[in-house]
Amino acid sequence: MSRVDVEGVSVSPDHFINNERVSSPTTFEDRSPLDWSWKLADVARGGAREADLALSAALAAFPGWSALTSEQRGHYLHRLADLVDEHVPDIAHVETRDMAMLEESLRLRVISRGARNFRAYADLAREYSPRRWSSNGTENVVLRQPAGPTVVITPWNAPFMLSTWKCAPALAAGNTVILKPAEWSPLSCSLLMDLVEEAGFPPGVFNLVQGLGEEVGAALVNDPRVRRISFTGSPETGRLIGEAAAKNLVPFTAELGGKGPFLVFADADLEAAAEKAAVMYDDAGQVCLAGTRLLVEKSVVEEFTGLFRVAVSRHVLGDSRDPATTLSPLIHPDHLARVRGFVDRARESGDHVVFGGSPTSTSGLWFEPTLIEPRSNDSEVVQHEVFGPVLTLQTFADEDEGVALANSTPYGLSAIIYTSSSERAERVGRRVRAGTIWVNCFLVRDLTAPFGGIGISGIGREGGEYALDFYSDLTTLQIKEGTTHG
Ligand code: NAD
Repeated sequence: MSRVDVEGVSVSPDHFINNERVSSPTTFEDRSPLDWSWKLADVARGGAREADLALSAALAAFPGWSALTSEQRGHYLHRLADLVDEHVPDIAHVETRDMAMLEESLRLRVISRGARNFRAYADLAREYSPRRWSSNGTENVVLRQPAGPTVVITPWNAPFMLSTWKCAPALAAGNTVILKPAEWSPLSCSLLMDLVEEAGFPPGVFNLVQGLGEEVGAALVNDPRVRRISFTGSPETGRLIGEAAAKNLVPFTAELGGKGPFLVFADADLEAAAEKAAVMYDDAGQVCLAGTRLLVEKSVVEEFTGLFRVAVSRHVLGDSRDPATTLSPLIHPDHLARVRGFVDRARESGDHVVFGGSPTSTSGLWFEPTLIEPRSNDSEVVQHEVFGPVLTLQTFADEDEGVALANSTPYGLSAIIYTSSSERAERVGRRVRAGTIWVNCFLVRDLTAPFGGIGISGIGREGGEYALDFYSDLTTLQIKEGTTHG
């Protein structure tokens, strides 16, 4: 199919397999959340045929790519990172129109994190030296071997950054990759493939297939030729992918949904806490890591809520292309209906909507920043991820109750703690069940740290060496002492 023009930036709506653009007999519509009447593209709708083509290409490319040294692979990854940096404005431009994240935020921070992902893993893989030690009359050597073709499946929020976060370590470890982005925001990953070609990657090393999860996604994860599956998305899909991985005994990681607690202790800098809590509405609350359950020590709840209201009132709902906007629309009418359903059911069941609670107009996909005081901790809106601009507010009397509330959902992706005491931070941090806990900050990330979820928020860890281990087959070589050199 010919390329489409997204307000001045040209994007291919096709797959990218074996370094070639491949179309499909059928397509799916991709519309802009900024204006739902705006069709961005008819995107190639992959199925079993495209999954097979991509896997065959990845399998054929694997011996060559895995035989390269980490330095040689690093050369390609660094070249790709440089190209991403050069193309930040175009990628941000397309992603804003495709999924409505704020263009300025994408341009200044999010897309360049994609470049950092490629560089960081290229360098980490290069630095690796096998662990060696002597025991039981043998020399032990741990080898990190490339695992094989890897399927990466990503969600619609932050599609570019989240895809590079997984593809970079897989490629650096010597695996070949098939990326399937989400059907609601497929375009920025297509731009990445233009850069893969420009960077001179060998054919078949890094492939992209477009399409629906239950079609091409399912075909990919069920194929026994796949050696690793890395998934980010909802717990429901995570379970389906886990079943496919189990059937073929393929290692998989799943980074899933969140319902993070945002704990505010009476000793905290309340103004800073309230400012940060208002940030939880950014990207219309479509952030897995957000602290969506505000848990505030009872003695300061009034003061905190007053400051929070002021901070929230500074948000500006608008077009994500406009630098003045801080609150973007939701991704899709179906998602708006889902968010609205949560709030309507909360209201009907006796939860108190403190502010917000409705779409802002009948035509657009904006939803008001919403705060709900639940009638009980069992309320649906407390126990389920909404993935929209909806926070809940609860109080606690002391540290024990705060920790108990923090741990009272099946999720465990992230938590945020505001306190001025480092002792309390560490004490509470050790008791809260979450893969990542931020104290007096949010979204600060060191790429070498482990990342993942507890409970229904995920299985496995990526990040730094943890990711490189996951994408590798670790082999122990034991050489009997006295085996002659040479
Ligand atoms: P989703 O689970 O609906 O879809 C994610 C991806 O899975 C899409 O590419 C989709 O096409 C694919 N898919 C769907 N069914 C499939 C199947 N049967 N086989 C293979 N692939 C299939 O999730 P979503 O709505 O796109 O994203 C929102 C969810 O992602 C939220 O729960 C959010 O918290 C989570 N998320 C988690 C993280 C994290 O790091 N933990 C980051 C971002 C988003």
